[in-house]
Amino acid sequence: MSQSEKPGPLLAVHELGVRFGAKQVVQGVSFEMAAGEKLALVGESGSGKSVTALSLLRLAGEAQLSGQALLDGRDLLRISEREMRAVRGGDIAMIFQEPMTALNPLMPVGEQVAEVLQLKQALSKAQAQKQAVELLATTGIPEPERRAQSYAFQLSGGQRQRAMIAMALASRPRLLLADEPTTALDVSLRGQILDLLADLQRQTGMAVLMITHDLHLVRRFADRVAVMEKGRLVEQGAVAQVMQNPQHPYTRKLLGSTP
Ligand code: ADP
Ligand code: MG
Repeated sequence: MSQSEKPGPLLAVHELGVRFGAKQVVQGVSFEMAAGEKLALVGESGSGKSVTALSLLRLAGEAQLSGQALLDGRDLLRISEREMRAVRGGDIAMIFQEPMTALNPLMPVGEQVAEVLQLKQALSKAQAQKQAVELLATTGIPEPERRAQSYAFQLSGGQRQRAMIAMALASRPRLLLADEPTTALDVSLRGQILDLLADLQRQTGMAVLMITHDLHLVRRFADRVAVMEKGRLVEQGAVAQVMQNPQHPYTRKLLGSTP
């Protein structure tokens, strides 16, 4: 490939390390994401997936971070707190297993979405409210105009998940960090939310880092997959390649295949 033609990666993580006190929970993690790419991050509970994603936004509590995480060449681990706030409000959004992690229980969901819209665009309150309803509609919330006035507790679990997704999209992120967004949902809803995320990814062209332990979801959603074990990335590659021909013993174990 000719050097000058190829765009650089959107995100380049080099040797990321995360330590809580004396406990090193993530070590030597390196991966890249191209614009618009869907990368799944898999691994057992406690392997460091959430901490890895949270570290990119410097939201991993009191963690000591090492290595680099370059977004367009800017190191997310070292930019100022002010620049980091701008990244959180614009370049990178995050959604969670539990929507109440992100939603404010004391403010109607439409207003929350409108507030995020106003961070990024010069909109009047009325314009922002209107756009918020439209955004809620694109996530498939029924009666979005009425639902925009609802508080999170008045919504069903699936609707809350959709409202959180609308809020994440309101900042028009180039990268969405999705931390097990379907895990807490009924099986019947999981597919719907996954399809919604896939549709929104296609429409917006955003890159998605999908954290999951559901290999079925990986097959259905992702282009590439990275496998974490005990804080390290042990394998990464195209989904079909890793699934059909896993190289690392841990990946084989995860896939339940015999070596
Ligand atoms: P996963 O998302 O893969 O289930 P996590 O990234 O949440 O795993 O956690 C990785 C390790 O980091 C676990 O051992 C967890 O207990 C530890 N950890 C996570 N957050 C903190 C924290 N704020 N303080 C101390 N240890 C933490
Ligand atoms: Mg987790």
